[in-house]
Amino acid sequence: MYLLYVDGSGSVKNPNETYFILGGISVYERQIFHLIKQVDEYVESLKLGPAEEIELHASVIARGSQRPWKGIPRKSRLQIIEDALEVVRTTHKTNKLFAVAVHKAHYSPNDPVEHSFEEICNRFDRQLGRFYKRSGYSSAEAQRGLVVMDKSDNYESALQSLARTFRIHGTRWGSLRNMAEVPMFVDSQASRILQIADLTTWAVWRRYEYQDTRYFDKIISRFDSEGGVLHGLVHLSPDYENCVCPACLSRSIRNSVTH
Ligand SMILES: [Zn+2]
Repeated sequence: MYLLYVDGSGSVKNPNETYFILGGISVYERQIFHLIKQVDEYVESLKLGPAEEIELHASVIARGSQRPWKGIPRKSRLQIIEDALEVVRTTHKTNKLFAVAVHKAHYSPNDPVEHSFEEICNRFDRQLGRFYKRSGYSSAEAQRGLVVMDKSDNYESALQSLARTFRIHGTRWGSLRNMAEVPMFVDSQASRILQIADLTTWAVWRRYEYQDTRYFDKIISRFDSEGGVLHGLVHLSPDYENCVCPACLSRSIRNSVTH
């Protein structure tokens, strides 16, 4: 089984922010232990106290107003985020990143969370479908997927009702052929991998909201892709034809090949 740990970045309601990002990391069940260990070791190397008490939450580290980040110079705090993303970059090759960047105004009045949630589930489902195809449609090799989300996020209730709709009506969720269950909501404080989802999603948000590529460039090579086509990163924007972000470039190359 593969688990896709998903988190959001950017405010849904704040009109001063243009983008909302939903993103995360898909991890094969046997790699979960190793990924957690890698991140724990990184947190221990910071020597800021017991690793189990330190949560990696990008916006909190960047702000630096809470312990243990309070008092650490901003430059060092941003380096901590970058180094944590280096852990993501060098993690096992089967761990893949996914993110959907939604230009909120373009999708208004539709809910950007629902929209990006459907898109990311779809992308994850297609990744599992490709594995199945590659195995020669061997049912013994078929992998199921499970989406894991942070229950403390304030969009939890919207997604839970969406998940309920999927479960009752079956149609949209049913069209995702490789999912084992509807999404699970867990506590991000207790899940190191949800913290990785938070860091990567924040890196993508910085890229689209502020054109700050410092963090995004670190991890771009780890987004789900095959044969040079980027499947794991989606930019939903009115002007995607003129956009030169990796997602839109990949999309226009794909379109020019198929048309
Ligand atoms: Zn783009």
